[in-house]
Amino acid sequence: MPTAPLRARAEIDLGALRANVRALRARTPGAALMAVVKSDGYGHGAVPCARAALAAGATWLGTATPEEALALRAAGLPGRILCWLWVPGGPWRQAIEAGLDMSLSGMWALREAVAAAREAGRVARVQLKADTGLGRNGCQPGPDWAELVAAALRAEAEGLVRITGLWSHFACADEPGHPSIAAQLERFREMLAYAEEQGVRPEVRHIANSPAALTLPETHFDLVRTGIAMYGISPSPELGTPADFGLRPVMTLRASLALVKRAPRGHGVSYGHHYVTPGETTLGLVPVGYADGIPRHASGTGPVLVDGKWRTVAGRVAMDQFVVDLGGDEPAVGSEAVLFGPGDRGEPTAEDWAQACGTIAYEIVTRIGTRVPRVYV
Ligand code: PLP
Repeated sequence: MPTAPLRARAEIDLGALRANVRALRARTPGAALMAVVKSDGYGHGAVPCARAALAAGATWLGTATPEEALALRAAGLPGRILCWLWVPGGPWRQAIEAGLDMSLSGMWALREAVAAAREAGRVARVQLKADTGLGRNGCQPGPDWAELVAAALRAEAEGLVRITGLWSHFACADEPGHPSIAAQLERFREMLAYAEEQGVRPEVRHIANSPAALTLPETHFDLVRTGIAMYGISPSPELGTPADFGLRPVMTLRASLALVKRAPRGHGVSYGHHYVTPGETTLGLVPVGYADGIPRHASGTGPVLVDGKWRTVAGRVAMDQFVVDLGGDEPAVGSEAVLFGPGDRGEPTAEDWAQACGTIAYEIVTRIGTRVPRVYV
């Protein structure tokens, strides 16, 4: 535990992350687990989280961009790493040389991967991504899929690529019973069957993200790709709490009060004076702001634990600081303010912040900025 006073810190409980990976493995028997560590491990730190996840039984790592995947390799992370968000002119050759698995959603991407494989004189590991209904990244079913599968098979026959996976991603797996889930699953099965009939022999077929891994066993196939659940957060309050799934939140965000002062009734607080003290009171200054990833939407709503009581962001969240009204309490300057954590020591959770800001807990943890040191406990 850190002893030096810190303006703010995000404590990352890697023991909880390891336990979450084990809990997810137990829920997904027969499937390998990909630890999704994109966006700096959803704000938790990609490299330490990736190491902890592999130690606890994950066998794949997943990132959005190739740069994120290359950074994991540069940090010495072994094993399989899939990266799925490419643009033309991307670092294909470096990815091949680093032994990454590269997702391809269209012909342009296959052409670039093949050209880089020729140049490197090495086989590119590729996974063909199907758009089964998300309507985002991925190859459309029908003629586009047929063309991509045929071209990838030709490149495989030439020894330029190895098709290691066929995969897709859900649109609404966090909404129990949403009709798109069954429709996407059916389309996925059709697109898999087509590719396999043509001769594709993938090592892994996968579509499940955290909500599917937690609640839809029929979606597990050979591998599940878990992000948010691994960080101990439920994909949606509708599905249940983290504890319902045996998960524990990994990040606790703490700050030290930078100022505690008495203020008279009628005192306008922070930019715009959207909060005016209703009576004589004590104001506490929490030295984190939107530059640290605290949503400005938390103005007037975000909960903070100070001295055993929940307080609310008073007035606007500024770039570097916000204020809480401490009522009659007068905690010492330097006292701890806990913005969110697992919730079992009385503090709010990332989900409470999400609700206060009209967003999802994914965004709350992911946007915590680089100015906040991560402390691994
Ligand atoms: N797979 C892909 C393609 C993703 O983009 C994501 C994250 O958005 C995940 C898996 C992990 O999703 P979740 O955090 O819900 O597990």
